[in-house]
Amino acid sequence: MAGLPDIYGASSAQTPNYARFGVEFVRGEGSRLYDGDGNEFLDLLCGIGVNSVGHCHTAVVEAVRMQTGTLMHASNLFWTRPAEDLARRLTELSFGDRVFFCNSGAEANEAAIKLARAHATAAGRPGRNVVVLEHAFHGRTMGALSATPQEAKQAPFAPLVHGFRTAPRDDAAALAAMIDDQTCAVLLEPVQGETGVHAIPDDVLLAARDGCDAVGALLIFDEVQCGLGRTGSLFAYEQTPVTPDVMTLAKALGGGLPIGAMVAAEHCSAALQPGFHGSTFGGNPVACAAACAALGIITDDATTANAARVSALLRELLAPLGRCDGRGMMIGLRPPGEFDAPGAVERLLFDHRVIANATGPHTLRLLPPLLLTEDDAREAAAAISEVVTSS
Ligand SMILES: *Cc1c(COP(=O)(O)O)cnc(C)c1O
Repeated sequence: MAGLPDIYGASSAQTPNYARFGVEFVRGEGSRLYDGDGNEFLDLLCGIGVNSVGHCHTAVVEAVRMQTGTLMHASNLFWTRPAEDLARRLTELSFGDRVFFCNSGAEANEAAIKLARAHATAAGRPGRNVVVLEHAFHGRTMGALSATPQEAKQAPFAPLVHGFRTAPRDDAAALAAMIDDQTCAVLLEPVQGETGVHAIPDDVLLAARDGCDAVGALLIFDEVQCGLGRTGSLFAYEQTPVTPDVMTLAKALGGGLPIGAMVAAEHCSAALQPGFHGSTFGGNPVACAAACAALGIITDDATTANAARVSALLRELLAPLGRCDGRGMMIGLRPPGEFDAPGAVERLLFDHRVIANATGPHTLRLLPPLLLTEDDAREAAAAISEVVTSS
């Protein structure tokens, strides 16, 4: 709009619910973003884990162009091919047998929570409660927020949805004790991403699996952030000793377009009877065509090999700076002492034109593109090293 300053600040016409940096991006290509003055930024955050195949990957752009010129929307009253192709691909690649499409991570988790309660109802079980883990993040809608036991995020919006119970995240016995005949699901991120980066220990995952099996509850993995190649396997559950009944996906799935998915095993998916759930835009042909293209790149051997090599290099370069949590290209760097992560993020952005973010007050989070080059990794590590050692 003419007359507005470059950076809108308090004069923005948007609600003030985001603390934004004073940068406006106009273009992206691969691992780089550009502002209106042509300044180039190295993107180690990928739009918070979304642009895993890099910005404007030609295969995704081409798929979107083709689909946009053919059919953009028809509704879920009818079949469309891109949604069916994507669902088939996701079931071939995972434990899942059926897929529900929606538009975001929160919506995918809403679907999973509803499936768990419908599944208990169908089985004639009293279970209504969903057990979640401390420090979890499952989204901002009322159901997903109720599954997100963070006081600051929940408190202003009480009353929340009933029936969520919080277990400590690293205590298998405490989790086991919390799963009973009132439980319809355990919902967890195998690698937590929003309060530090933290892989849930195997014994806790085994306790969740055993507890769910014992009472007939569903084990739901939220792989919205840690799925789709982010942690070094296509899905994070593949690196754990358990397989969930349900998995939620979003973020990287659409290669930059908004799409979410709930992937479910056959034995529970039928609980979602006709009319039980839905989404106007869910399974949108353009989003699904983009996702098919993105999935093709993510599952390409060259991508997997690059992500393994470059994430190892990045971790090696960052190791002298502090503790490196997480797996693969999902990295939490926790330097010693009272490291000021938000301050470091600002200095990386404005002094080095490197994009990262803070997850928690002392942890720097990196979610780089899976196709990051070794030179990119060296450039990133040099900037981070300077910021960490001088703060
Ligand atoms: C981002 C995220 C969500 C929420 O996804 P939205 O698309 O923002 O609704 C849920 N769970 C996890 C683990 C996430 O990282």
